[in-house]
Formats: sequence, C-alpha cells, structure tokens
Amino acid sequence: MNRDADVIVIGGGIIGCSAAYYLSKLGKRVLVLEREDITRGSAGATDGVVGYHTKKPGHQMDLAVQSIAMFENLSEELGMDIEYGLRCGGMQPVEDKMQWDILSEIVEEQRKSGVDIHMISIEEARQIEPQLAPDLYGALYSPTGGKVNPIRMTIAYFRAAKRLGAEFLTETEVTGILKEGSCVLGVQTDKGEYRADAVVNACGSWAAFTARMAGIEMPIKPRKGQLIVTEPIGPFMDCTLQCARYNVIKFRPETIKDPAVLKMGASLSIEQTESGGLIIGSTRELVGYDRENTLEAIETILKRAVRFFPALKDVCFIRAFAGLRPYTPDGLPIIGRVDALEGFYMAAGHEGDGIALAPVTGKLLAEQIVYGKESYSLEPFSPNRFL
Ligand SMILES: Cc1cc2nc3c(=O)[nH]c(=O)nc-3n(C[C@H](O)[C@H](O)[C@H](O)COP(=O)(O)OP(=O)(O)OC[C@H]3O[C@@H](n4cnc5c(N)ncnc54)[C@H](O)[C@@H]3O)c2cc1C
Repeated sequence: MNRDADVIVIGGGIIGCSAAYYLSKLGKRVLVLEREDITRGSAGATDGVVGYHTKKPGHQMDLAVQSIAMFENLSEELGMDIEYGLRCGGMQPVEDKMQWDILSEIVEEQRKSGVDIHMISIEEARQIEPQLAPDLYGALYSPTGGKVNPIRMTIAYFRAAKRLGAEFLTETEVTGILKEGSCVLGVQTDKGEYRADAVVNACGSWAAFTARMAGIEMPIKPRKGQLIVTEPIGPFMDCTLQCARYNVIKFRPETIKDPAVLKMGASLSIEQTESGGLIIGSTRELVGYDRENTLEAIETILKRAVRFFPALKDVCFIRAFAGLRPYTPDGLPIIGRVDALEGFYMAAGHEGDGIALAPVTGKLLAEQIVYGKESYSLEPFSPNRFL
C-alpha cells in the first residue's frame, strides 16, 4: 500500500502538535491535518496554568506530575521561549469554613501523589499575594508549578515537529476514516485521501465526531469557558490563582447548592501574563459549541475578581473571549489505542488541563505507537474504558 505518512494526526491543537513532535523525534514520518490553522482550537482561547493543585487526585494528578516535570527544559528542547514561569506557585483562597473543609479533604488526596500542596492562613496567603482581600478565610497553596504561554507552546511544538520532518496541512478537514475490516488505512479529507499505518484523533472538543467517522462512540463534549483580559498593569501578582470554588466545582459539584452557580460554573481564575495584562476567568458551561461571551458571565467574573482583589476595581478590562474544554464524564483524558480498530488512537478529552498535560500525552502516545508499550502506563486513560 502507498502511504503518505507513517502516522496521521488529525487536529493541530496543542495535543496534536505535541504528538507530532514526539512521534517525529522517535523517527516516524508524521502528517498533521488541521481544518483551520494551528492554535485555532482551545490553545488559542485559554489561560496557561501548569499547576498540581487543579488536578484531580489519583490518576490525573500522577500523570500531571510526569508532565509538569517535562516543562522545566521545554523551551530549550523546542528551541523557542514558551514563557514558562516556574515556581510562581498556585493558590486558591477560601471564603468560609465549609470551603476550607472541602478543600482540605481534596488536598489530602492530592498529596498522595507526593506533591507539595497545603492549607495556609489568610495572613500567610497575603504575605505571598499582598493584594488579596484581608477578610478571606485562608488558602490552599502549592509552591511549585507555574504558568506558560499556551499559544507560544503550541507553535513551539509545531515548529520543532516541522524541523524533524513532520508535515502540516492546514485548511484540510478530515471527513472520513478509511478502514479495511478492523484496520485503519488512513483518512478522507476535503482535499483527498491520505494513507498511513496509524491515525491519531487529536480533535479536542470535536473528537467525538472524528471518532464516530471510525464507527466509535467517545463521550467527549465541549465545556465552554469565558475569559476576560485587562489592560497591562505593573507587577500585581506572582501566583496563578483560583478561588476555592474552582476546585469545588471541578471535584465536588454535589456540595454546591446554588443552581445558578452550578449552571454557569463560574469561579475565579486569575494570572498575570508577561505583558502585564491579567487573564481573568472563567465559567464551565455545557452549552454545546457556542463560543459567545455573555454579559451575565462577564459581570459575575469581574465581581468575583474584585471580591478577591479589591484593587482591581480601578483596572479596565479590554477584551473577552471564550474557548471550549474537551470534557469527559470521568474527568480523565482519553489517550491510547482503540482495541476495536487497529491503528486508531485517541488523544483528546483533556478538559481544563490540556496545556499542562500536553507534553506527557504526546510523549507517551508516541511511545505506545512506536514501541507498542509506553514508559508510564496509559491504562487509566485508555479509550477502551468507554467501549
Ligand atoms: C477557558 C479555558 C481555560 C483553560 N485553562 C487551562 C489552563 O489553565 N491549563 C490547562 O492545562 N488547560 C487549560 N484549558 C484547557 C486546554 O486549553 C485544552 O485542554 C487544550 O487546549 C485542548 O487541546 P486539544 O489540542 O485537545 O484541542 P484543540 O486545541 O481544540 O485542537 C483540536 C483541533 O482539531 C481540529 N479539528 C477538529 N475537527 C477536525 C477535523 N475533522 N479535521 C481536521 N481538524 C479538525 C480543530 O480545528 C482544532 O484546531 C483551558 C480551556 C479553556 C477553554
């Protein structure tokens, strides 16, 4: 059979570009097919928290530990500054005793992966972030971890993969998966057919459609997040910070009684970028593929920002945008081979953690494809758990 590549990666987001890089590094001839352009998916509409404290205890946290370790030398390895701010730390201020108790329980679970996350008093929190409101109850604090520029990181993977020989075709939409029996042969696109031994579905929030083209049902849905950007200001904060409700919505939604909070999933997340602007979010909304900003969400986010950082009442916000997180029902990404279709692999469903988990996802998937076995087990993330 004539092949156009060893491996076809569908989707040029951060996951697809990472997979392309690590596959190329292991000597594979890679073709990436992207229907729009690189970073036009979620990587272009996100903030860039690379921290432990927002990870689900257990398998996801263990995977994050592997991934975050890879960030340390990533700029150097990829040959481009990805603006990784190491050791700025992560913090989640707590508003009341009930949140303190819930967060303390989650922290106990998270610490089982050997990460340094602990609870501190509001006085200690204000020594680290002096702009925090003094009437808060306390905070979760994770001294390591950091933030990154997700667009630069995606472009860095894209360029490094290209240097190793990977080919990228943008404005090329995959419309079908070519199969023979239970083997994948390649893909059909709006520009023609491309053949390869392996096909990786890295279509983020759209991965369920691509999987369905192969006759496979994957429970991935878009979960919208709205974000606001402020004018650049002087040095304001070091940590990446979320309010405690962020982890509560993510890991203990059943403890939230207010249906309006649950529906919009609004919690504060805030970080200062290299250029001085603050990125402030966000919501967690299951509203299909809609990416419009709503006044209700912007107002809620801004009010929460001023509640935690009163000095922000004098800062202008200059734009807002929304992105889609690829949500899965068990909160874990879907990575690895599909047993029912030889040569078909999934790398999607990273929800709100795809930037932090991109290095390890690409690396382990590449190992599985090339060696048949990965150096750190992807079993808990296997697509076969849904089939
Ligand atoms: C508001 C918000 C805040 C976030 N904050 C963080 C954070 O702080 N830290 C963190 O780690 N993560 C965060 N995330 C999550 C992170 O952005 C995502 O998990 C990650 O970007 C997903 O990457 P992806 O490559 O899987 O998907 P995408 O970037 O969406 O890429 C998928 C690509 O597939 C392409 N595609 C789809 N269908 C086809 C087709 N048929 N043919 C060809 N191409 C196709 C799309 O055009 C797209 O470019 C956040 C997300 C949002 C929305």
